[in-house]
Amino acid sequence: MNTTLTSATEAQASRTKVDFDAIGIGAGFAGLALIHYLREAGLSVRIFDRASEVGGTWAWNCYPGAATDSESYYYCLTFSNEILQEWKWTKRYPGQQETQDYLKFVAEKCDMMPHIQLNTEITEARYLEDSGIWQVTTSTGEHYTCKYFISGMGMISEPQIPRIPGMSSFKGPLFHSSRWPRDLDYAGKRIGIIGAGATTVQMVPVLAKTAKSVTVFQRTPNYILPAMQKDMTPEWEREIKANYDAVIAKCRNHVFGMAFDSPVGRNAVDTPPEERQRIFEENWTGSFRWVFETFDDLLASPEANRMAADFIGAKMRERIKDQRIADLLIPTFDDYPLFAKRPPLDHGYLEAYNEDHVHLVDIKNDQPIVEITETGVRTTKEHYEFDIIVLATGFKAYTGALEAFPIVGEGGVTLSDKWKAKSECVMGVCVAGFPNMFIVTGPQAPFANLPTSIEQNAIWISKCIRKMEAEGLALCRPRREAEEAWTAQTADIHGQTLMAEGHKVNSWMMGANREDKPPRVLIYFGGANFYYDALDESAAKGFPELEFSGAAAG
Ligand code: NAP
Repeated sequence: MNTTLTSATEAQASRTKVDFDAIGIGAGFAGLALIHYLREAGLSVRIFDRASEVGGTWAWNCYPGAATDSESYYYCLTFSNEILQEWKWTKRYPGQQETQDYLKFVAEKCDMMPHIQLNTEITEARYLEDSGIWQVTTSTGEHYTCKYFISGMGMISEPQIPRIPGMSSFKGPLFHSSRWPRDLDYAGKRIGIIGAGATTVQMVPVLAKTAKSVTVFQRTPNYILPAMQKDMTPEWEREIKANYDAVIAKCRNHVFGMAFDSPVGRNAVDTPPEERQRIFEENWTGSFRWVFETFDDLLASPEANRMAADFIGAKMRERIKDQRIADLLIPTFDDYPLFAKRPPLDHGYLEAYNEDHVHLVDIKNDQPIVEITETGVRTTKEHYEFDIIVLATGFKAYTGALEAFPIVGEGGVTLSDKWKAKSECVMGVCVAGFPNMFIVTGPQAPFANLPTSIEQNAIWISKCIRKMEAEGLALCRPRREAEEAWTAQTADIHGQTLMAEGHKVNSWMMGANREDKPPRVLIYFGGANFYYDALDESAAKGFPELEFSGAAAG
């Protein structure tokens, strides 16, 4: 490090006036959590979002059937007991509109709207080395400066658009699933969907109700778990609201950040077959609970994982009339282990294929897509005519939003440059070479119930900033050795899990779905609870992963 330059930067940082103490991008769960915790720390905060409404991913993903896969009562922010008590969820899994309404309610109730600037796209964020501050630039050329720059852009938000020849020639609407046109009338229309992941699993049963036909082009089948949607009853609501502290504690202490009971203290491989079957059956009550509340070894032991895969496959098969379709829809352990791809939750997807107007095309082994034409999709065998084509082709997870425009750190290096080969990060929250920059749920954070992780990240960030403000510090620089240590630990754990098989089946959890980058370790799989412990320990020890220096900006 150039110490002369550093001390000059610190001196300058102490004199430079900024527009806001902190600038964040993304007015979803992360943006609202940041406003709460940073405002509590006494900072001036501005959150920018290019959307026209608060909601983050829930402002964009408005495709028919969009709903949460976490259960409503713990898919929420927990900083206000008043809101937890006042807000009424209507369902086990709220739909997009209800979730977005909840976020708007939080923003209004907590008087956050004055901190949020909508309809504003950020096209560059740059660390100004001479002054030690950050400058963001909007698409209309305005500049805003801040001491702390924070991404709340979400880990599954930047669409992965496939390169299929002829895409621009299609005459009807063709769009990515997360950009569903709100006013699109699809009743009576022929809809083609490319991709068969969690999004498609949610949208097909709803589209099938009124569309003339729905045709899904599938490459890789999924282990599909039942959602088993149900209404929130007054009794259930009373019970949740009387026990919210316990619900929050369960999330904080769960490997997946969810309000599940764990560990259950038994392994599938040590359980006699009849008893195992009974436990599998009794817990087949919907959500990811089944994976975490039956046995402790389903995601660790290949033998146990195979048992789980077989059970799920048999359950899926019971619901599909045409066994040739079932063969296409059901993966086996020999294809890939359960959770090497993130399993979707189902609200009637499998039954939809029992309808004559819902079709499945195997584009992996039978008829790969050749091109998109003016009127549809041509495979190696047929031409399918459509009025609407949906690209439900997933996202550039964890890093995509951070690489979509230049985020420029020390030495003019962008995050995109830095992450060409590996997506290194310190605990998913900050990156060496990017002083005073924080990320909510960045690469190498866990994949978990997102509001839980978001809030834990926002708390760590706000504690770090509180320390800097209290001690009059200008800069924090994530240490390269801390980044290397976290990267090595994350890779080591990842290599021991069955999720490492994800690269064989294009799993976004390894960035293996991207056409522009090689697969990589993107997720800390050591358990969200242990990750939250690591964040707490870091804060308690005064953030040893960071090098602090200088006097504070004005
Ligand atoms: P996804 O799981 O990544 O699925 C994308 C699909 O598109 C896959 O079937 C993939 O096939 C296919 N695909 C990609 N590129 C293709 C190409 N060039 N040609 C043909 N097919 C192609 O994406 P997603 O369904 O949007 O879900 C992503 C994640 O978002 C989920 O796992 C979940 O974490 C989140 N999500 C959450 C919710 C919720 O919680 N409510 C709802 C929806 C999504 P391959 O599998 O062969 O690559």
